[in-house]
Amino acid sequence: MSEKFEWINEEMEALKQQGLKTHIRTIGSACGPWMVVDGKKVLNFCTNNYLGLANHPRLKEAARAAVQIWGVGPAAVRSIAGTLELHRLLEERLAAFKGVEDALYVQSGFCANQAAIPSMVGKGDVIFTDRLNHASIIDGCRLSSARVVVYEHCDVEDCERAIKENLGEYRRALLITDGVFSMDGDIAPLDRLFELCERHGIITMVDDAHGEGVLGRGGRGIVDHFQLNGKFDLEIGTLSKAFGVMGGVIAGSSTVIEWIRQKARPFLFSSAVTAADTAACLAAVDLLEEGTELVERLWENTRYFKEGMRGAGFDIGASVTPITPVMIGDATLAQNFSRMLFDSDPGIFAMPIGYPTVPQGKARIRVMISASHSREDLDLGLDIFTRIGKSVGVIG
Ligand SMILES: *Cc1c(COP(=O)(O)O)cnc(C)c1O
Repeated sequence: MSEKFEWINEEMEALKQQGLKTHIRTIGSACGPWMVVDGKKVLNFCTNNYLGLANHPRLKEAARAAVQIWGVGPAAVRSIAGTLELHRLLEERLAAFKGVEDALYVQSGFCANQAAIPSMVGKGDVIFTDRLNHASIIDGCRLSSARVVVYEHCDVEDCERAIKENLGEYRRALLITDGVFSMDGDIAPLDRLFELCERHGIITMVDDAHGEGVLGRGGRGIVDHFQLNGKFDLEIGTLSKAFGVMGGVIAGSSTVIEWIRQKARPFLFSSAVTAADTAACLAAVDLLEEGTELVERLWENTRYFKEGMRGAGFDIGASVTPITPVMIGDATLAQNFSRMLFDSDPGIFAMPIGYPTVPQGKARIRVMISASHSREDLDLGLDIFTRIGKSVGVIG
């Protein structure tokens, strides 16, 4: 190995020592409650497939039909020759679903933040951002060149302090928060943040990647949950979690969305999402608008699993959503726990999460509940978690 990269060896060794080196598993089947992972059929608690749409027959048929009509790739960025009728249709449907004027469909939720944030603020502006916001928000803030002021997690008083200390010095201000925080499953105090921003004339933005399809009426998201429909200036979302497909969305007033269409670099300089993905997303919106059964089943499963885990003595944190963090503490123990789950018979697929994704000493195993889990799946999960939890002393 070249001496140029000796530093990688050293850093990699340090990651291993701290129990922080990620083993990336390879999936050998479609996304569902049971999957083939590294060649073994296991019960899946890892994916963000909240409603089981990732392998849904209606979505698959929509994608298949779209390939027949549109082919496989648009071969252009949206602003040149990549805006298909399907994209516009999806944008109209997503805007209607969320009760806002317009929406912009981009390549991913990650891209949505890169697209939206630098379009709204720049040099001379200020962003107020929750300490635990998602990496794509952090990167979007950096890209914008605006001053970034971090407030303590979900702490409205601290946010107000930050606003008062900084607001006068800058041209425009933007507040950004995750809706649902993906590592803890807690939710932002959106109503109080909104009221605060209204008072100070601050642009509001929420990233609802884990709230869409989950919270609100029929899965309309966290803004709907707080009955703030149409009031948040920008709602960021993803089509790759509950919606089961691929892509991101920026929703808001027609003024704001039209501006972002002119300015957003991922929209202007990176090719459009395929027709197949777009058509599958449209089928997902159809399903969500047709009924609330999947969302209800997701919540039923969530309540059942969480009660079971609490009953067994596990600390499952402050989650109020289907995200269920099983607190372990030590990163190496969390890795070992996850491996023991995987190696049990049958195996359970649940990822350990350590620093820097969560703070040092707060390692956990994150269980993602889905509407597609059966009662037997959940019982099996509870059984095996309890058995291993006892054997390693995480529970009594
Ligand atoms: C997952 C997630 C994203 C990224 O969405 P992708 O569509 O996977 O790129 C962005 N923001 C938040 C808050 C997320 O949880």
